[in-house]
Amino acid sequence: MSTERIKCLIIGSGPAGYTAAIYASRANLNPVVYEGAQPGGQLTTTTEIDNFPGYPMGVTGTSLMEDLKKQAERFGTEVRYGVVSKVDFSERPFKVEINSEKEILADTVIIATGAVAKYLGLPSEEKFRGAGVSACATCDGFFYRRKDVAVVGGGDTACEEATYLAGLCNKVYLIVRRDVLRASKAMQERVMNTPNIEILWNTNTKEILGDEFGVTGAALVNNKTGEESQINIHGFFLAIGHHPNSEVFKPYIETNAEGYIITDGKSQKTSVPGVFAAGDVQDPTYRQAIAAAGSGCRAAMDAEKFLQENQ
Ligand code: NDP
Repeated sequence: MSTERIKCLIIGSGPAGYTAAIYASRANLNPVVYEGAQPGGQLTTTTEIDNFPGYPMGVTGTSLMEDLKKQAERFGTEVRYGVVSKVDFSERPFKVEINSEKEILADTVIIATGAVAKYLGLPSEEKFRGAGVSACATCDGFFYRRKDVAVVGGGDTACEEATYLAGLCNKVYLIVRRDVLRASKAMQERVMNTPNIEILWNTNTKEILGDEFGVTGAALVNNKTGEESQINIHGFFLAIGHHPNSEVFKPYIETNAEGYIITDGKSQKTSVPGVFAAGDVQDPTYRQAIAAAGSGCRAAMDAEKFLQENQ
C-alpha cells in the first residue's frame, strides 16, 4: 500500500469540503480533497438553488459545485476521486485509508462527508427508487406535474416538500405517522392553508404499488384503528430525516445518538485534537448549503491554527 504525507486532508466535496479547501489552500496548507462516493455532494441532486447568497437569479446545484471546485483548485487544492475505507485517529499523523489501497498520513483532517436521506426500508421502495420513489422533491417534483403524489414525514422537510409539490401537482397526500406534525408552526400553517394537500394522520405505509412503468399507488394502514386503505399516486417522496455519513469515524470521534459528529462550541473541533468536522455530518439542524460553507471556512481556520500551535 502506498503512503503519502499531507498537511491537511479534506474528506468530502460538498459546500463544506470545498469552502474548507478554498480557505486551507489560501493559507498554504496544500489541502487534498477526496471527493467521496457522490462528488459535489447532495446539491448535485437538486435543480435550482435560490437561497445561496450571491446568485440573484438562482444557480443549479451542479454549476454551484463546479464553481466551488474550480475556486478551490485555483488556489492549489488537489481534488481526487476516492472513498475513505478506514481511519486510525489514535495518534498523529492520522492514518486514512483510501479505497483500501492507499494510505494518507495527515497532520490535520477535516471531515465534510455530509448526510444521506433515510428510507422506510420497504422492498418496494427499493424496487421503485428512481421510478416514482424519491427523497428529493425539488430534484424530481417536475416529473409529476399535474399528477397525484405522496410525501412521508411530519417535519419541516416534509411540509416544505409537500407545499413545493402542491404548486406543481394535482394533489399531495402527506402521510404522517402520528396525529401531530413535528414541523414549525409556520410550516404547519402553510400546509394547512394549501387546499390540495391532504394530511393522512396516524398512517404508515405498508407497501408501494406499481407496474413496469413505475409507481401507481401506496398501500396504507392506520396505526390506531388498523384500517387499511390505498391511494393512487405516481410519486412517493421520502422526507423522514437524514443519516450522517460518520460511520467510518465513529471508533475515534464522538457523535450524538443519531451519529452526528459533536463539535466544540462555535469551533469545528471534534473530540480528537487536529480532526475537524464541517457541514451536514455535524449539523442536524440547519442543513443548508450556506451554513455548511460557513462551517467549512471555520474548520480550515481551526486547522491552520492547530498546525501553528502543534508544529
Ligand atoms: P425531522 O427529524 O425533523 O422530521 C422527520 C419526520 O419524519 C418526523 O415527523 C418523523 O416522525 C418522521 N419519520 C421519521 N421516521 C419515520 C418513519 N420510519 N416513518 C414515518 N415517518 C417517519 O427531519 P427533517 O428533515 O424534517 O428536518 C431536519 C431538521 O432540519 C429539523 O431541525 C428541521 O427544523 C430543519 N429544517 C428546517 C427547514 C426550514 O426551516 N426551512 C426546512 C427543512 C428542515 P415523528 O415526528 O413521529 O418523529
